[in-house]
Amino acid sequence: MSDCGRVKNAAKETAQQARSLATCRAGFLLPAAAEFCGCIAGRSRNTAKAPVGVALVDAVIGVQAEPERKNGLEVSFEFFPPQTEKMEARLWETVQRLTPFRPAFVSVTYGAGGSTRKRTHATLERIRRQTPLEPAAHLTCVDASRDEVDAIARRYWEAGIRHVVALRGDAPNGERFVPHPAGYARAVDLVAGLKRVADFEVSVACYPEVHPEAPSPAADLENLKAKVDAGANRAITQFFFDVEVYLRFRDRVRAAGITVPLVPGILPITNFARTRRFAATCGATIPAVIARLFDDLDDEPQTRELVAASIAAEQCRRLAAEGVTEFHFYTLNRAELTAAICRLLGMKPVAGSAEVVVQ
Ligand SMILES: Cc1cc2nc3c(=O)[nH]c(=O)nc-3n(C[C@H](O)[C@H](O)[C@H](O)COP(=O)(O)OP(=O)(O)OC[C@H]3O[C@@H](n4cnc5c(N)ncnc54)[C@H](O)[C@@H]3O)c2cc1C
Repeated sequence: MSDCGRVKNAAKETAQQARSLATCRAGFLLPAAAEFCGCIAGRSRNTAKAPVGVALVDAVIGVQAEPERKNGLEVSFEFFPPQTEKMEARLWETVQRLTPFRPAFVSVTYGAGGSTRKRTHATLERIRRQTPLEPAAHLTCVDASRDEVDAIARRYWEAGIRHVVALRGDAPNGERFVPHPAGYARAVDLVAGLKRVADFEVSVACYPEVHPEAPSPAADLENLKAKVDAGANRAITQFFFDVEVYLRFRDRVRAAGITVPLVPGILPITNFARTRRFAATCGATIPAVIARLFDDLDDEPQTRELVAASIAAEQCRRLAAEGVTEFHFYTLNRAELTAAICRLLGMKPVAGSAEVVVQ
């Protein structure tokens, strides 16, 4: 059976497990998903070299038992620090649900202008104390002197946090970023500063569709190279939906001699209007075929979730078929979609690994 045929069957299987509501939609979704994955245009490439992708499809359609519970994949999950007690409860439920997928690490974001500094720290500390997960702290250069940022990094190190996602950050309210007079001006400076504080594992951001403020794609790539040369161990991409965009970017990154893992950031679309707004600010494109799928789903939350899971799983499946083995999920503190996508990727949660103490 062709890869395209397998994909369609896999998606069909997924739809069959869903309720009839979603099955009605599948007639539209399946051709759309196939078009999105590049099968119709004959753009699928490299599949023969992709044992993970094939295993993944097999796992989805249940043809072949996959003994490796992670299916050869590494995942990481991104959370944001909760603002209210209710949000806090939801975050911990999410952590509990996702822990059994044994992520390589879980990261906690840092709000614009350091607005979440205390909450980010508290969330990371709790993850470190009460779960078996490796926490990674996002840290930005916004509105803080180098000494202040270094002090935060030292506190993380003392608290046992060994992994930092080093970012420039953005100015609050969509204003133009202006470096603090005594601060780190860019992420590359922060990476170097962190390495002076301690031997952190450092992840940085990268942009398959080019950072909106970059003078050119070449300059953006040079900036990524500088961050890696300064000590970054991994680059996590801004979210994207068109797999070809990532593959072209990866080709350019490798041609530039950058060899660190280039981990795709996957955003399951929980709320299409919000995703569109967010995409507009960070320069990510939403393919028309995806926009069409969400056209009239405002009042159908369950169908929307099934469609979102199918899109993200299909995106990951294509990436895996191209040799990608690591995925970073922007969970938005919700477990269901990310858990469903991990399952669709052939991953099995490990019973007994959710040693989360929820207090
Ligand atoms: C995985 C991920 C996680 C994120 N987490 C957070 C978070 O927790 N909190 C938050 O506030 N934001 C977060 N962001 C958003 C991020 O802060 C913004 O995208 C920000 O605008 C850029 O951050 P950066 O670290 O990529 O910056 P940098 O790498 O410093 O790049 C910023 C811009 O400057 C340009 N540039 C750098 N050096 C030069 C140079 N020498 N000459 C010319 N141009 C140059 C780059 O091309 C780019 O356009 C995250 C983004 C990603 C992808």
